[in-house]
Amino acid sequence: MPELVFFSGTMDCGKSTLALQIEHNRSARGLSGMIFSRDDRAGEGKLSSRLGLVTDAVEVEDGQDLYAYLVDHLSRGGRADYVIADEAQFLAPEQIDQLARVVDDLGLDVFAFGITTDFRSKLFPGSQRLVELADRVEVLQVEALCWCGARATHNARTIGGVMVVEGAQVVVGDVTHSADEVGYEVLCRRHHSRRMTAATARAAALSPDVLPVPST
Ligand SMILES: [Zn+2]
Repeated sequence: MPELVFFSGTMDCGKSTLALQIEHNRSARGLSGMIFSRDDRAGEGKLSSRLGLVTDAVEVEDGQDLYAYLVDHLSRGGRADYVIADEAQFLAPEQIDQLARVVDDLGLDVFAFGITTDFRSKLFPGSQRLVELADRVEVLQVEALCWCGARATHNARTIGGVMVVEGAQVVVGDVTHSADEVGYEVLCRRHHSRRMTAATARAAALSPDVLPVPST
């Protein structure tokens, strides 16, 4: 039976690497995939992983009908044996409904990869719809770690290393970034709720307030 599978996790947990692995394994078996992505770090029309692998993808546009796109592709004699949707948190809920229809009406497996929650620990609408509709939700087990060493379960948005909790839900950035740019950092729940990033923890540790006062 074809399935809609949602592979979810924090940033930096290896989602895109797994997407590329699935693509590799299936194309090695002679299967041909339709790969959708959106706002990938490597640029438009790409699916890339932090480990340096990259493949071409169809850049999803606002309001694009993914089901109609596949029907059109197939009716022109194109092949699609399965579908991969990376950065699926950026898809609209209707586009997730269209992916479910690809499974049910076209009989294709759809593998969606996405971050579950945003920097305020709220569900992305696309991820929420995936949780509602998926046949299976797989939480990726490659553990991202907080600076304290605990399992990172939350995504923080940072500006110059300082965590922010205001702003638009989607601002594209990366976990590697220069100072003063919007970046992202994965944290454990405790340090997300205390807004303590690696940079602020380091600054606190170096602060004269907490250094032992040498006795003279
Ligand atoms: Zn922590």
